[in-house]
Amino acid sequence: MPSAQALRRLIAGNGRHRRESAGESQASGDVTPAGFPFALVVGCLEPGAAGEELFAERPGAIECVRTAGPSLGQDTMAAIEYAALVQNVGVVLVLGHRDCGVVSAAKDAREVGELRLPGALQEWVGSAAAGSGALPVKGVTADAVTGHVRALRARLRKADSLLSLTRSGQLKIAGGVLDDDTRGIEFLPDEPDEVVEPVGMPRPDPSRYGS
Ligand SMILES: [Zn+2]
Repeated sequence: MPSAQALRRLIAGNGRHRRESAGESQASGDVTPAGFPFALVVGCLEPGAAGEELFAERPGAIECVRTAGPSLGQDTMAAIEYAALVQNVGVVLVLGHRDCGVVSAAKDAREVGELRLPGALQEWVGSAAAGSGALPVKGVTADAVTGHVRALRARLRKADSLLSLTRSGQLKIAGGVLDDDTRGIEFLPDEPDEVVEPVGMPRPDPSRYGS
């Protein structure tokens, strides 16, 4: 499936799910299992924060990898590369969610200037809270969750292993933020990837984080 079509299908599917969640009756969808997935969602592990159900799709049409925030560790990258390079999905959606406790904890830790989170989370604080600083793109909401999604999206778009696919347009790396209440996803505009790197915090070592 072409990448633009795959993204439109994700957006439309979430629209159906949001309307269903609001109590609107929807025409029953196709329940025939899909022969192949067309999208990978990279979302947060917290309950309800990501999952196939958000897109009201046929079984097997959407894959999900869920980690804290989410985060882009080695295992997550391997999952993304498998979906993109082997399964040929058309879109990878980095999905944050409005009420994310993980990003909130990281933002708090960053703001007090101390690394109070244990283990691998310590080094992750800077990137998780990238959005709590000023963002260079005008008109973009500078909230922590949106900033986090944009930072991860930028990192994926620069990933060597995906460059040939993203440059040729075969793969789209999209970003979105889920409203935990309405179940609707705000898909971020396709703006340039200029994200302010966090200052004064250690850069995350991607090899440290698994799923
Ligand atoms: Zn979360």
